[in-house]
Amino acid sequence: MHKIISLTIDPLFVKSYNNGYPLISKEALLNWQKVTEEGSIINLYDTHKKFIAKGYYGRQNKGYGWVLSSDKNENIDVDFFKKKITAAVNYRNDFFSSKKTTAFRVLNGEGDGLGGLTIDYFEGYYLLTWYSVGIYTFKETILEALKSSVEYKGIYQKKRFDAKGQYLDDTDDFICGEKAPEPLIVKENSGKFAVYLDDGAMVGVFLDQKEVRKSIRDTYANGKTVLNTFSYTGAFSVFAALGGAKETTSVDLANRSRAKTQEQFEVNNIDLEKQNIIVEDVFNYFKYAVRKKLSFDMVVLDPPSFARSKKHTFSASKDYVKLLKEAIQITAKSGIIVASTNAANFDMKRFKGFIEKAFKELGAKYSIEETFSLPRDFRINETFKEGDYLKVVFIRKY
Ligand code: SAH
Repeated sequence: MHKIISLTIDPLFVKSYNNGYPLISKEALLNWQKVTEEGSIINLYDTHKKFIAKGYYGRQNKGYGWVLSSDKNENIDVDFFKKKITAAVNYRNDFFSSKKTTAFRVLNGEGDGLGGLTIDYFEGYYLLTWYSVGIYTFKETILEALKSSVEYKGIYQKKRFDAKGQYLDDTDDFICGEKAPEPLIVKENSGKFAVYLDDGAMVGVFLDQKEVRKSIRDTYANGKTVLNTFSYTGAFSVFAALGGAKETTSVDLANRSRAKTQEQFEVNNIDLEKQNIIVEDVFNYFKYAVRKKLSFDMVVLDPPSFARSKKHTFSASKDYVKLLKEAIQITAKSGIIVASTNAANFDMKRFKGFIEKAFKELGAKYSIEETFSLPRDFRINETFKEGDYLKVVFIRKY
């Protein structure tokens, strides 16, 4: 059973909740001390005891929980979650009927009215990612809703919260149905990816970059030399190669990135001969590349928003200018830098400011060719800007 508690919203925040703001934040609550039990249903009231919205308590770095409904009489039950899932599925009908793309996001947390949970689709399989203990307490209810809303081959899960000993009995990623082949081959705009639904925290591809990959393949890569930094499984390199890149170089410090990247090329029948895979700290590689005066027609930068390696700490908001300056030095004249970040703590305007600063400090000129944000399947809530985290800028260097 989910405990039900009533909390009062600070008058300063009432308007934003009435406008659909989804995150229940500590600052907005006058009596947040009352919430103790993850998964509690929270009824939000203003200081005159007028009902505003209901949600649940689930601690995430972002806040105390998420709003689920503005209807006072709404029960948070199987039917409620069915409604949310069905609406999310309908919103992505074109993805479901696509022959070219068989991996995409089905439900994007607060963007689909269900903060704390995402559901991804991979070729008939569903992957649920839980972001708090609170949302995870609804697991059985949500599973029942999902099973009765979609046809599925199998269902998997990832837990992205620190359970501190809770739920240790349930460490499995596989939940029900049939197990997916390993690897499972999915398609994205006719390119292929090998994904593993039950192999650690990540499956092998970040679905939010699909439009960027397509653009690299269809518009920019032909005949070019491409450096892909923070390459993970090499998804950008694969699409560059599919677009006719002359040569790709993928750099990532994770040991397993080599085999994973090779595999992505192989499932796309790409000749490995012209694909370099380097396991190294990107910052060391840049030093080497600058010293050797290497030059690439295209450089992709897609760092994590925060990372600590043996020698370096990288924070996108503090260090992106520096990163760009390294990249600019090894980008050929008229070459393209694809600058990407998923950092939610600054917006596109500030990101463009970093770009401006980096070029200015090097006395170099540039133009912005195009920009990307999240694709349509990563639906966002317009009142929650932090959810609109992806920023990608295609920059031409002069
Ligand atoms: N661009 C990738 C996703 C990047 S995820 C894609 O399109 O799929 C971030 C990656 O950065 C991880 O694989 C991590 O191993 C790597 N990484 C983090 N710090 C690094 C560093 N200093 N040097 C090289 N790789 C790094």
